[in-house]
Amino acid sequence: MYNPKSLKAEEFISDEEIKETLAYADANKNNVELIDKLIQKAKELKGLNHREASVLLACDIPEKVQEMYKLAEQIKKDFYGNRIVLFAPLYLSNYCVNGCVYCPYHAKNKHIARKKLTQEDIIKEVTALQDMGHKRLAIEAGEDPVNNPIEYILECIKTIYSIKHKNGAIRRVNVNIAATTVENYKKLKEAGIGTYILFQETYHKESYEKLHPTGPKHNYAYHTEAMDRAMEGGIDDVGLGVLFGLELYRYEFAGLLMHAEHLEAVHGVGPHTISVPRIKRADDIDPTAFDNGISDDIFAKICALIRISVPYTGMIISTRESQSVREKVLPLGVSQISGASKTSVGGYADDEKEEITSEQFDVSDNRTLDEVVNWLMKLGYIPSFCTACYREGRTGDRFMSLCKSRQILNCCHPNALMTLKEYLEDYASDETQKVGMELINKELKNIPNEKVRKIAYEHINDISNGKRDFRF
Ligand code: SAM
Repeated sequence: MYNPKSLKAEEFISDEEIKETLAYADANKNNVELIDKLIQKAKELKGLNHREASVLLACDIPEKVQEMYKLAEQIKKDFYGNRIVLFAPLYLSNYCVNGCVYCPYHAKNKHIARKKLTQEDIIKEVTALQDMGHKRLAIEAGEDPVNNPIEYILECIKTIYSIKHKNGAIRRVNVNIAATTVENYKKLKEAGIGTYILFQETYHKESYEKLHPTGPKHNYAYHTEAMDRAMEGGIDDVGLGVLFGLELYRYEFAGLLMHAEHLEAVHGVGPHTISVPRIKRADDIDPTAFDNGISDDIFAKICALIRISVPYTGMIISTRESQSVREKVLPLGVSQISGASKTSVGGYADDEKEEITSEQFDVSDNRTLDEVVNWLMKLGYIPSFCTACYREGRTGDRFMSLCKSRQILNCCHPNALMTLKEYLEDYASDETQKVGMELINKELKNIPNEKVRKIAYEHINDISNGKRDFRF
């Protein structure tokens, strides 16, 4: 029944295959010979399939786990360097017709404030986001065909891209809205979106149906097959994720990798990103009511294993995680983080002080963007506001070939430095500016290609003189 090439959810995410995978992983979790072979395979950057990666996840021999962590760090350095891309979520509307039991936007929640941004509100929100220094957004909305139809989402995207406040601009809008039709995905593509993100929540069909008792999201197959429709609609950067805490993490991990393998098998390109959200407290939601919460150590191990299993896929950590957890997992392969996020509708321009909020969940990292940028640099990372790839048409497998040919240092690295320089000029505190200029001067020297290095130096100077938006 299991068939990664099938377009049917229950065939490419086969429950039977996952159960056999978990049994195989249990049987081999102390098989040092196999574990060494798998680590070696991952070292050769061949990636690991769901069965192989599940063996490593089940293995808890301390030295082997350390080897996995070390390898994840090495792969991150080799492929992504020390750049971390920054973004912020923008909540458009929390009207929702679904019944997701873990989400406060569920239709039966009568004590959450329901809000939907008007185009004037969006101008205020985006202006506030631009004034922090953000260039990349992920728009979020509940599912509601009357309040948030696709026309509304498209209008919002158009407004967001049109706002030019001082030196600010939003240069990439990623979209996290409910599963929709091929026609609607085509419209999103035409609107110039970056990545289409949709979390699976859980790959376990039975649990999925219980966790989504009502509304269109109840349909497991429609939700699970959404990425195939998105790709059919022309979107070749898609972002996967599961909401850890809902089901057994080993089941979810195998499902996630099977989904990635399916996309590669059918469309020739795997997911652009994988997100690893964990369930959080929210209005009407107590995360302890869900039995499958995972410890920070397991969370870190999952991040490391995603990194070594799908080395060409970006990994995203949101402000659901605290500063200390983010610090723990950053070196293990994270490529993007959100900063200074608000999960309420209208929260950037108008900090909600009322008791009744429109927030989706509590954030654990409440620092300002300047604090996050400063912290990243002090940890040795280059905060990047780069949005060049999709603007240069480097999406889908074209981004992957950049990755595979190791051209990141001649392309993404200078782009990161140039966008960081813009941030320092326009938005940073004095202290962050000082740390940032030292970092840029040091990192410019690491551009291997002489010509690229020379151009990057010139552009950094041009940015000091008021010019903006350079990219390789
Ligand atoms: N309504 C859309 C959908 O159905 O996919 C869009 C996204 S929703 C605004 C973003 C994500 O937040 C959900 O996919 C879910 O995984 C996550 N989420 C919901 N409730 C949460 C909670 N209590 N804690 C953490 N994350 C949560």
